[in-house]
Amino acid sequence: MNDEEFESYINSGSVAAKILKEAGTLVKPGESYLEFVITIENLVAEEGMGLAFPLNVSINEDAAHDTASINDDRVFLPCDVVKVDLGVHLNGFIADTATTIDLGNNGSLLKASEEALESAIRSVRPGINVGKIGAAIQSAIGKYGYKPISNLTGHGLGRFSVHNPPSIPNISHPGGPVLEEGMIFAIEPFATTGTGIVSEKSRCEIFSQIRERPVRHPNARKVMDEIKERKGLPFCRRAIQYNKADLGLAALMRERVIRGYPVLSDAPGSLVSQHEHTLIVTSDGCIVTTR
Ligand code: MN
Ligand code: MN
Repeated sequence: MNDEEFESYINSGSVAAKILKEAGTLVKPGESYLEFVITIENLVAEEGMGLAFPLNVSINEDAAHDTASINDDRVFLPCDVVKVDLGVHLNGFIADTATTIDLGNNGSLLKASEEALESAIRSVRPGINVGKIGAAIQSAIGKYGYKPISNLTGHGLGRFSVHNPPSIPNISHPGGPVLEEGMIFAIEPFATTGTGIVSEKSRCEIFSQIRERPVRHPNARKVMDEIKERKGLPFCRRAIQYNKADLGLAALMRERVIRGYPVLSDAPGSLVSQHEHTLIVTSDGCIVTTR
C-alpha cells in the first residue's frame, strides 16, 4: 500500500466514522426508513465521497442487505434492533463500518457484538491465521449467551471492491489465511438470539454488476447506462432513475450481468446485532480507519 492509498483509506474511514455517529442519533421510533437513508447518503456526497454500497438498514432478525425502496412506507418502531451499515469510498478506497441502535431493551445483545469486535481487533497482528479472529469473536459473544452468525464474515477490501479475500470468520476455525502487514479488511461480528445461520429472504433491493456483456433488451440497456458509473460497486433499486427499472433489473439478472443481494435473516422473531470496523494491519497490530 503506497502513501496515497493509505491516506485515502484514513480519510474515507474518518468520514464514515463521523457519518455513522450522526446516523445513530437519527434512528428514532416514527422516523421513516426512506428519509433516514436519503439523509445519510446525502451526507456522504456532501463530504465529497462516494457510496461504496447503498446504506444498509436491517431490522431485528434481518442481519444485512436491506435498504429503503423508492416508495418505502416503513418507519422505525419501538423495540426495533436497527443495524446501520455504511460504506464510503474516496477514489475507490473503501471504509466499511456498522453499528446497531437499540430502540428496545437489548443492551446485552449489542454489547456482545461490540465487545466481540474489540476483542477481534486486539487479536490482529501479522502472522496470525484469520481463524484466530473468529475465535476471539465466538468467545466474546458466547460469554453473553448469544451465538455469532457463522455464515456471515468480514472481508478484505480492494479498490472499488467490497468483498475481497480473505474472509474473516465470525467463529473459531483452524488455519485459514495468515495476516500480513498492509492488509486491509473489515471485521463484522453479528450476535444473535436465533440459530446463528442466516438465509435469504425474497426481498432484494441491492445489486451489483458482475459481468461486462452487451445487452439488447431496451429496459436493460437503460439500467446499464445508469449503473456503469458504479464501477462494479453495489447499487440499489431506488437509485435508478428510470420508470421501468424493475423490468431492466430483471432482464439483467436473467442475463447474469448483475447479481442480487437478498436480505439475509435469522429465524423469525430473533434479534441480531452487528458492529463493524475497517482496519489496516501494521507491523505490531492494526490501525482502525473507521473510529
Ligand atoms: Mn458493512
Ligand atoms: Mn462489511
